[in-house]
Amino acid sequence: LPLPCDLHPGRRSARGVELGHAESLNALLADIRAPEQPRAAPLVDGFSLPGHVRPVTSPIDSQTIGTVTEADEAIVIAAMAAAEAGFPAWAATPLDSRAAALDRAADRIAADRGALVALLQAEGGKTLDDAVAEIRETVDLCRYYAAEARRTLAPTSLPGPTGESNVLRHRGRGVFACISPWNFPLAIFTGQIAAALAAGNAVVAKPAEQTPLVAAHAARLLHAAGIPATALHLVPGDGEIGAMLVRDPRLAGVAFTGSTAAARAIAHRLAERNGPLVPLIAETGGINAMIADATALHEQLADDVLTSAFRSAGQRCSALRLLCVQEDVADEVIAMIVGAARELTIGDPRDPATHVGPVIDATAQGRLTAWIEAMERQGRVLWRAGEDRPLPASGLFVPPAVVLLDRARDLKEEVFGPILHVVRWRSTEIDMLLDDIAANGTGLTLGIHSRIAATADRVVARLPHGNVYVNRNMIGAVVGTQPFGGSGLSGTGPKAGGPNYVRRFALEQTVTINT
Ligand code: GLU
Repeated sequence: LPLPCDLHPGRRSARGVELGHAESLNALLADIRAPEQPRAAPLVDGFSLPGHVRPVTSPIDSQTIGTVTEADEAIVIAAMAAAEAGFPAWAATPLDSRAAALDRAADRIAADRGALVALLQAEGGKTLDDAVAEIRETVDLCRYYAAEARRTLAPTSLPGPTGESNVLRHRGRGVFACISPWNFPLAIFTGQIAAALAAGNAVVAKPAEQTPLVAAHAARLLHAAGIPATALHLVPGDGEIGAMLVRDPRLAGVAFTGSTAAARAIAHRLAERNGPLVPLIAETGGINAMIADATALHEQLADDVLTSAFRSAGQRCSALRLLCVQEDVADEVIAMIVGAARELTIGDPRDPATHVGPVIDATAQGRLTAWIEAMERQGRVLWRAGEDRPLPASGLFVPPAVVLLDRARDLKEEVFGPILHVVRWRSTEIDMLLDDIAANGTGLTLGIHSRIAATADRVVARLPHGNVYVNRNMIGAVVGTQPFGGSGLSGTGPKAGGPNYVRRFALEQTVTINT
């Protein structure tokens, strides 16, 4: 399988870029250039369609950075019709040619890193580290799904009685709706599309309303790489546009990443519409816990907690929400985490020294601020950034915070931002702790910090989480190495970046011939 592309400015240490890689970092910084007047518009058969235009603003400083023309019902209908018409030709394109187009898309995305970093930062509020890692993940996803399609979708002869041939074939299902989130506006947007296309489907993609510019740029790169304009269509807009899409009886499947509530609503609509039964591949959030026992190495634990809870301003599905630390070491560990968190730089993510950038929009900022204020009223906030250093005066910043809860079951919702909750547990209470963690019904990421292998085994055996990380941080799953996705309220599977993903987008057909 292809190796991850060579985009990273250098190996990172906890302190940032290692000396000796400064040159490649400088080369990257010199490359960063926002496209002039970036715009997004519905793309149907490659044509930009007119409609309601609104400005796109940056979470960094609320400045207008481009415009988006939003789709409406007529455009959704037109995109579905165009995708349905474009499907047969793409499905009939040889598997290897489809995969080759995705390999070329990977090359184009890697080559266009300067514009993509600029857009990811301006529109998504990403730090340099996060923007570069996301471009790398996107390239990896295109190459990986191309390779997986070649490996898993070719016709397979199956054993059978003499005088009979049995062949399992795969082909596209039809039109897939790909509905993606704002927190990985390039990687998840492109990854869903790449898998659907690799399997021979036509796609109507609906990016998150907060990040249409990155999506439109990526769609143009995919077309330029040779994905036919008739096979990939774009409908920017809000959740209503997504709802219209999934009501369409012509739809052959949905790939969705976002909230559990939205995934339920999609399942409902798919069930109610008057069309075929189709797959829903949903990846949602999680109330992700990390369990640290008294044998954990404190410095390593503190570093991994900071990375897992505060990197990307906590706006990852995989992010750590709840640290469960054994009573015997809790005082020392919590003091170390708070001490290290005080050193985080919060501010403009375009500054390479920034650790924590803004949250995505004013709604998120308001929700997170209300949460912290409620915790403060209950006297639960152990530390909040800004107490020691001033925060940026403008922009959608939420100060990272550490909040103490009594029991793990007290955290009942996914707080999608830079807020770490902590509970203390006694060694006699481990079963109660595991029950509490299981009780919220999500099952995405799980961290364990323990030097006792039997403890890790016991936790893994008890909990159904899709991605378990032992003695390391719990974000940044690597394509092809840590297939990513959860169970229960966290999603349906199959895992993104894993060997079973592309096949789920394909229709299986067994052909038995009496010879
Ligand atoms: N795959 C990402 C990670 O491992 C998270 C994806 C998401 O937030 O949806 O950190």
